[in-house]
Amino acid sequence: MTNEEKSILIAKHLGKDPVYTCYKHSVISEERMQENKEFFNVCPWCNVVLTLEDCPDYFNDLNAAHEMEKALKWEQRKQFHSKLADISGFSYCEADTREETDLEWACHICHAEAKDRAEAFGLTLNLWMASQK
Ligand SMILES: [Zn+2]
Repeated sequence: MTNEEKSILIAKHLGKDPVYTCYKHSVISEERMQENKEFFNVCPWCNVVLTLEDCPDYFNDLNAAHEMEKALKWEQRKQFHSKLADISGFSYCEADTREETDLEWACHICHAEAKDRAEAFGLTLNLWMASQK
């Protein structure tokens, strides 16, 4: 599953209506996109590269990722932060003090990139499975 496909799932979850458009042929329906899967990014009629509309780039745009995170309910945030820390490379070290561990954990979350935030968001809400890389 590509990051673009994952972004579409996030956008839909957030109530947006992402669509692929061709400047000549307007909106390409989801059915047509499925039929045309081997040529995913081009218009089935004119081969022009399609534009994805109403779909923020959650995997690259930190502002979009921040907006996305606002949709998490309070009780989902603990799981989100735990996944985000793992994904962004936090590793527990037994030699560290509790204070050092907490600080490192918090740093991983504070400084996480958009792509890690989007991945943790999708996994927390079961929009896709961890195996669907
Ligand atoms: Zn076209």
